[in-house]
Amino acid sequence: MSQFWKPGTEKPRLIDDEEGGVLFLTASASSSSSGYGFASIEKQRQRLPVYKYRTAILYLVETHATTIVVGETGSGKTTQIPQYLKEAGWADGGRVIACTQPRRLAVQAVASRVAEEMGVKLGEEVGYTIRFEDATSTGTLIKFLTDGVLLREMMDDPLLTKYSVIMVDEAHERSISTDILLGLLKKIQRRRPELRLIISSATIEAKSMSAFFQTRRRRGLQDAEPALAMEPAILSVEGRGFNVQIHYVEDPVSDYIQAAVSTVLLIHDKEPFGDILVFLTGQEDIEAAVKLLTEEARDNRKSSSGLIVLPLYSGLSRAEQELIFSPTPRGKRKVVISTNIAETSLTLEGVVYVIDSGFSKQRFYNPVSDIENLVVAPISKASARQRAGRAGRVRPGKCYRLYTEEYFVNEMATEGIPEIQRSNLVSCVIQLKALGIDNILGFDWPASPSPESMIRALEVLYSLGVLDDDAKLTAPLGFQVAEIPLDPMISKMILSSNQLGCSEEVLTIAAVLSIQSIWVSSRGIQKELDEAELRFAAAEGDLVTFLNVYKGFLQSGKSSQWCHKNYINYHAMKKVVDIREQLRRIAQRLGVTLKSCDKDMQVVRKAVTTGFFANACRLEPFTHNGMYKTVRTSQEVYIHPSSVLFRVNPKWIVYHSIVSTDRQYMRNVATIEPSWLREVAPHFYRQDGPDPMLH
Ligand code: ADP
Ligand code: MG
Repeated sequence: MSQFWKPGTEKPRLIDDEEGGVLFLTASASSSSSGYGFASIEKQRQRLPVYKYRTAILYLVETHATTIVVGETGSGKTTQIPQYLKEAGWADGGRVIACTQPRRLAVQAVASRVAEEMGVKLGEEVGYTIRFEDATSTGTLIKFLTDGVLLREMMDDPLLTKYSVIMVDEAHERSISTDILLGLLKKIQRRRPELRLIISSATIEAKSMSAFFQTRRRRGLQDAEPALAMEPAILSVEGRGFNVQIHYVEDPVSDYIQAAVSTVLLIHDKEPFGDILVFLTGQEDIEAAVKLLTEEARDNRKSSSGLIVLPLYSGLSRAEQELIFSPTPRGKRKVVISTNIAETSLTLEGVVYVIDSGFSKQRFYNPVSDIENLVVAPISKASARQRAGRAGRVRPGKCYRLYTEEYFVNEMATEGIPEIQRSNLVSCVIQLKALGIDNILGFDWPASPSPESMIRALEVLYSLGVLDDDAKLTAPLGFQVAEIPLDPMISKMILSSNQLGCSEEVLTIAAVLSIQSIWVSSRGIQKELDEAELRFAAAEGDLVTFLNVYKGFLQSGKSSQWCHKNYINYHAMKKVVDIREQLRRIAQRLGVTLKSCDKDMQVVRKAVTTGFFANACRLEPFTHNGMYKTVRTSQEVYIHPSSVLFRVNPKWIVYHSIVSTDRQYMRNVATIEPSWLREVAPHFYRQDGPDPMLH
């Protein structure tokens, strides 16, 4: 074993640096080979750009409360820095090193890579936690987790005492949880001077981050750790990306899926070997592109022989994920069709060609209509540059942008907007309240959310009975809702099922709503899928339909064949069973008695209304196109074609979520009685005439 400098021991001598302004130390990077058989992985580790900065990073972390590391994707930030910290002793004495990611899939992928590099079993020294899935043990030294899960951990341990270093990774993404986390970590730092933060990011907005973490030295802190610098240190890891040639289309394309597919075939035909990475927006268009390419392979063998086409989006099974990272066989060309998860969170080796649709799925919230949806929206220049960069990892590459140069130069926004400024804040507000942050507008945000969104969130939480007149969490309801790791509306639904005697049913609904879809993807099999859905369809809507599917699944003995026959996604159903079990435990801990209402769907719908009353909609009379209006803000909305109530159009419904394409479509709806609205939310609705109205 080589010697590593351990924090707290005598520091290595500082020498001048020849590498461009970055600190370098004499006890320079040497490696530990942790056993036999890892030599090639060790070599790979040493070849990563971040390796040269190993000692510098350890020195900065030792001497600074906050260290900001900027480095190109693939330079080794995520997989290496936690290992360096561990080797240097930051996980000694029962302490844990945490590394957060905005995305669940990235958490799993990097944790499994680091476990492999260290030659340990995933879940032991190296573990991960994502919502509803905990792969850690008491011996875990390096823990990867989503930023959302770390926020939840603060409810039990507000100062996050078990962590010695917290690395907030992918900070440039500015996910809503990352921003909340940064604000809270800044507070924690004042109470825990020994805690170290590393903020890592793929792009250079380090200055604003640095300004945010600038804290004036306080007397208490100074006494605790006199040598600790409170100014954040910034370290920039020089990458070694190769040149990437950019190609634009001459005229705007009307169908980016088709254009992407043609470009793949063109590259395959004309360009030397090297893998292709295609950026589309979500599961649907990715699967459409996979299908087009697979059909091409069937119909026209010549143009596509040797292509291995793989999708990459969240919700993929473990086996599917592994295919993405496995090396491309000789004589083949891998085509990975991905969401923007491959933009910076995951590195795929061997990519030489990138095709950029110019779009991604983004969350947008409108506080006036109070509707949040995921829409396919143009990316920013910063994103476009990141995407292009993915082509230059192994050798000079090419990026094909499916938009014009003129569009890129003149119309594309420079930077994206932080998610907190385009999200519904209900979950965010309740989490902060649960952590005792009462003045939410006055909270120290890296980017302030809009007051309108904040007020909307407060209104909803007040009407759910979660906040009182002083905007404090109510006891016990408010605290209980905060404790359930779900949207407050769903949590409220679960809690209210106790009195209504239908907790068994409502837990199933909540579990199904926690995953994307229980149906197999609908591309090309819409008719079969519709027929399958009809077998389970309930007149009360999609949420009750879920109960029929779940029952059928259990009766089949959780059979994959049964799922296959009914166009139901087997992996999704297994997840539902697993999530439901975890929710059941949480609910029971909170005093919910398990009880089934058997066939009485009225109480189930009532429980649903108790959570989702703010999403009530009424069918517009005198129109015949299925138009609804939200009671709350009079927005025009329609039932989504995938719903069992599509074209049925009952008069009163509540919805779970909205997706917007050509129209605003409600997904997962349930029928309700209008009189329930006033009954469950008297602060919200009044009823003078025949129909409930807003106060
Ligand atoms: P960064 O966080 O700076 O973007 P990473 O630490 O994620 O970089 O990746 C560093 C390198 O580790 C990658 O360039 C790649 O070579 C390798 N790597 C990372 N994840 C995997 C994986 N799942 N399978 C194989 N190699 C991987
Ligand atoms: Mg990374």
